[in-house]
Amino acid sequence: MLQLQDPSLLETRAFIGGAWIARDTQIDVRNPVSGRVIAQVSDCAAADATLAIDLAYAAQPVWAALTAGERADFLRRWHDLVVQNADDLALILTAEMGKPLAEARSEILYGAGYIAWYAEEARRIYGEILPPHRSDMRLLVLRQPVGVVGAITPWNFPNAMIARKLAPALAAGCAVVAKPAAETPLSSLALGMLAMRAGLPAGVLSILPSTDAQGIGQEFCQNPKLRKISFTGSTNVGRILMAQAAGQIKKLSLELGGNAPFIVFDDADLDAAVQGCIQSKFRNAGQTCVCTNRIYVQDSIHDAFVNKLVTAVKKLRTGDVPDYEIGPLISEAAIAKVQAHVADACAKGAQLRCGGTRLEGQFFAPTVLTEMTGLMDMSSQESFGPLAAVFRFSTEKEVVAASNDTEFGLASYVYTKDMNRIWRMMEALEHGMVGVNTGLISTEVAPFGGIKQSGLGREGSRHGIEDYVDLKYACMRIDPQ
Ligand code: ADP
Repeated sequence: MLQLQDPSLLETRAFIGGAWIARDTQIDVRNPVSGRVIAQVSDCAAADATLAIDLAYAAQPVWAALTAGERADFLRRWHDLVVQNADDLALILTAEMGKPLAEARSEILYGAGYIAWYAEEARRIYGEILPPHRSDMRLLVLRQPVGVVGAITPWNFPNAMIARKLAPALAAGCAVVAKPAAETPLSSLALGMLAMRAGLPAGVLSILPSTDAQGIGQEFCQNPKLRKISFTGSTNVGRILMAQAAGQIKKLSLELGGNAPFIVFDDADLDAAVQGCIQSKFRNAGQTCVCTNRIYVQDSIHDAFVNKLVTAVKKLRTGDVPDYEIGPLISEAAIAKVQAHVADACAKGAQLRCGGTRLEGQFFAPTVLTEMTGLMDMSSQESFGPLAAVFRFSTEKEVVAASNDTEFGLASYVYTKDMNRIWRMMEALEHGMVGVNTGLISTEVAPFGGIKQSGLGREGSRHGIEDYVDLKYACMRIDPQ
């Protein structure tokens, strides 16, 4: 059905220990625009995770024993194949997830950026020699791969979320067993296909599509051969994994939910702020963990900002039309959540300035709500949809308190021209990332991640490799002369 230049990238079997294996049970993968089944993918059981972990456990020491340069060369070849096949990968991604094709292509290149970055970083996993505490001692610190890693990824970035985990893990010398979201397994399988073509040794990577997320999650937590779990998804599932992983004190990296504030002060460039707000709020139809969830606008410019925002939002092309800019939501449950947030806000006094309704299929009209208050559900819950919720504020102190009044701490955004205020805000916001006069912050060059209940660990930058290495300290006594 998909017009791919290389149809073999549409792989529907599981990738276990270097082999493509079909399972009897199938997952129906649906296109969120049409609702039609576009592929049937092998549905792996928890026993497949056990098998994949065994194979990874055998392969990992061999992979780790390669030189850093050899692992870097593999990552570079893999990166090049991803870029060469970006058009096909984007088509597959849009077909299973629904985001606009241009956004899908950007995601493929964004994911490839992490692979290129960690191809470079693989060669820089340096140890240390410390000044000793005694003249007859020599102290060394080794940085060694943690071992076999279990990766669990969500549906909203079917390519980049898995690339962000595989690249640093493989660079560090780990082997990975990955479970993509059941809604969007095709992009990860295509990445696995390209990894195989790039020469990744059998066993170092397995990709297990599955509807038994709970069973596979439990196997990851309980199998002692698997030493670390890297998860991106909801805070709720993050809590479950953390509790389950306690039994073996298993290492965890968690990229969880957010509740991003987007703050516009009265000295901001309003047109730039509106543009940044559209990018941050409506990218991926609002279905990203760094998406703006609460827009705080200072009193004196509130109405001017809202007028510009509503005008811009009304122009966004959406619905089942060619080249839509705002794609469908992933599921009926996602639509129900957005509808509930609109109904709750309106019942408590919010004003609906545009949108607010479901369109054909799983599309939802881009929406602006004003006169929002802290009593409304959306002030504490991530809507994960195309809802722009505008709150008023008067003072810097008030907006800092409101922005931090959440269990989450992932992304935040500030628009102002005052350099002193920029510094104060960067330091005061209790969020792992701050966008200053920009609504786009994600890059492989920087450490992506949250504080508070938004997660543990970082992805990207030189810090991202730390999640996949253990420090080992060696204390060596020598005979002094
Ligand atoms: P979302 O709401 O974005 O789907 P989830 O946290 O439910 O976020 O899902 C993210 C990933 O976690 C998916 O791959 C999903 O299959 C997986 N998952 C869901 N529940 C569990 C669980 N109990 N244990 C392990 N993984 C899970």
